[in-house]
Amino acid sequence: MDNIFADRINDVPRSFIREILKVAQDPAVTSFAGGLPNKDLFPVDALNIATAKVFDRDGKAVLQYSQSEGYLPLREFIAQRYKDSQGLNINVEDILITSGSQQGLDLLGKIYINGGDGLVIESPGYLGAIQAFSIYQPKFLPVSVSEEGMDTAQLKSTIDNHSPKLVYIVPNFQNPSGISYPNANREKVAKIIADTNAIIIEDNPYGDLRFSGEHQQSFMHYLPEQTILLGSFSKTVVPGFRLGWVVAPPVVMEKLITAKQATDLHTTYFTQSIMHQYLVDNDINEHINLICDVYGKQCHAMSDAVNQYFPSEVKVVQPEGGMFLWASLPEGVDSSALCKEAIKEKVLFVPGDPFYINTTSTHTMRLSFSCVNKIVINEGMKRLGNVIKKHLAQHV
Ligand code: PMP
Repeated sequence: MDNIFADRINDVPRSFIREILKVAQDPAVTSFAGGLPNKDLFPVDALNIATAKVFDRDGKAVLQYSQSEGYLPLREFIAQRYKDSQGLNINVEDILITSGSQQGLDLLGKIYINGGDGLVIESPGYLGAIQAFSIYQPKFLPVSVSEEGMDTAQLKSTIDNHSPKLVYIVPNFQNPSGISYPNANREKVAKIIADTNAIIIEDNPYGDLRFSGEHQQSFMHYLPEQTILLGSFSKTVVPGFRLGWVVAPPVVMEKLITAKQATDLHTTYFTQSIMHQYLVDNDINEHINLICDVYGKQCHAMSDAVNQYFPSEVKVVQPEGGMFLWASLPEGVDSSALCKEAIKEKVLFVPGDPFYINTTSTHTMRLSFSCVNKIVINEGMKRLGNVIKKHLAQHV
């Protein structure tokens, strides 16, 4: 029966995280596995007010079919925000509203990737991008990332050997590892790519969620002609509206709009209008500060718990923002096996495996701190620390 399906879907890895999250539904389980924003921070009342305003004023218009590019005032808001917060001059015409930045990934795959085309992916990298691009059957070219950013020697040799079309990068508080590329590394990466025809896809859903350290420059700053940006309201306002965007120059935009029309004609106007009304009536920076404050404190609590309860052999990356803490067990320890033991003790994390291409049995793990308060963190990390200690005593 399987072989009635297209190769492009048969080859896509199934979301392992989805399987794990089934376990997380048990209320007795403490989960650090989810990658969700904290729903207690959703501005429900303000969105309710914005919704009433939009329906009273423009009810019929926002329920009609409309332009594929997206709601103009929302695109204008996004362009202005790039200027105010990052000093980037982005033309409104270069912004396409998408159904989440996830759709941006799909549309870019659709317009760029022929089967076998080279695509540089971070290692570890965002599972949703691996899934979205897999549909178009690229040749994935993993390049390692760490706290120092992308491994530039590996990037250079990958580019020299494979001439990739696309380089997919999440430079701020990356999913899964929480790392950010320092400016000096970005500059080096940009220099290497400048000599090629490759396009950087900079996916930046977490960039605003900085709770320590300094803002680092977008690749748009270093390499404007070869950079496409993806943005999202999922982590700063709500994910349920499914609103993201792509920033791309006119020649690319023309293709993206064709692909967007083929996919869904346009993203829903009523959510776009409500989002815009919300952004006009409220101070988004104030709201983002609140999110950063909560995530920063929870990240801190999780780091403290690592120090207190985990054996010293476990190393963690200290993120300056975002939602994830990345931990490495000693080499050779299989985090998937550890995960099974943790499930028995009713505590959950995501083992590193699904974030790597063609790699199994990794010793890394992703812990999310966005949705868990200090008390839950302390209690869950204590249990997880005991599971790790027991596991290391048996396997090392
Ligand atoms: N890119 C990255 C790196 C992500 O972590 C996510 C969400 N988990 C997305 C894109 C997709 O986000 P959305 O479609 O909600 O904008």
